[in-house]
Amino acid sequence: MASVKTRVRTIEKLKALQVEVEYPPTARLKLLQGETVVVKYGGHALTNGGLAGFAADVAYLVRAGVRVVVVHGGGPEISEAMEAEGIEPTFVHGHRVTDEATLKIAERVLSGRVNRDVVTALEKAGCKAVGISGRDGSLLRARYRKPKVKDAAGREVALDLGFVGDVDRVNTRLLQLLQGGGYTPVIAPIGVTSSGQSLNINADAVAGAVAGAVKAASCVFLTDVAGVLKDKTDPDSLVRALRYREAEALITAGAVTGGMVPKTQACLDALASGAREARIADGRESRALLNALLPAEPQGTAVTP
Ligand code: ADP
Ligand code: MG
Repeated sequence: MASVKTRVRTIEKLKALQVEVEYPPTARLKLLQGETVVVKYGGHALTNGGLAGFAADVAYLVRAGVRVVVVHGGGPEISEAMEAEGIEPTFVHGHRVTDEATLKIAERVLSGRVNRDVVTALEKAGCKAVGISGRDGSLLRARYRKPKVKDAAGREVALDLGFVGDVDRVNTRLLQLLQGGGYTPVIAPIGVTSSGQSLNINADAVAGAVAGAVKAASCVFLTDVAGVLKDKTDPDSLVRALRYREAEALITAGAVTGGMVPKTQACLDALASGAREARIADGRESRALLNALLPAEPQGTAVTP
């Protein structure tokens, strides 16, 4: 047990370490004051150790009067935990299946560990934060995701992917209550059906749905690439700006693949349901969030209606 003296010294040390971010005031910051910005952070950006810097950026925005909602991922951490427990992921038609054991791990890792880490980092950065999953206050009412595919005989069938869902409705009142009290909500991407079943939801899809529901001024996806690349093997092929139709065309043409598909789709969903813009930017850089939002020419890819 640490003595009172040691504990006081530790707290003082932590306070001394808490550096407030300096960032030149910009015209775009003025536009965001009083508005809501939804930020999706991680999975892959999260595992790269930039959490403290990310938290400092959020704290800066909140101090400047921007309302921030954080949605975090956790794919890599869930895969790690599954591996440790010897659970092999299963796929049908290329879609990952979430069985009961996988759902349990996902809930435990997302709500228990990742969410707590993000909240702790924000509190350390001087930003009051509350961690919630989509279950809390039915924040994310969800329905089962059952994508349609053609079977061997060419008939359309709905795939059963287990406990995985899409957002049906967002309880924006709960977010307003937290924000009204000065708390930044930190959301774990778990939804709940009308009968109380938890469903795993892609964190990008959650961010897009929340951004649309709160009519966010911006929805920022921080990831492990510079943004949307025209040619994903060429880092110099970054697309700086996309209109809705152009982003849609990149998905149809197969120029975006893998994890970039739900991200780009989430940008489109956010815009279609009322967000003003969406951005995909590199979360591994320092000051990533501020550089994606505040300069006259922000980092990453901007998607606008
Ligand atoms: P996150 O953990 O942030 O959700 P993902 O791995 O799910 O990240 O998605 C980002 C990945 O998408 C990139 O690392 C890249 O490998 C892949 N990707 C596929 N197509 C593209 C593209 N056109 N431009 C950029 N990244 C792409
Ligand atoms: Mg992803």
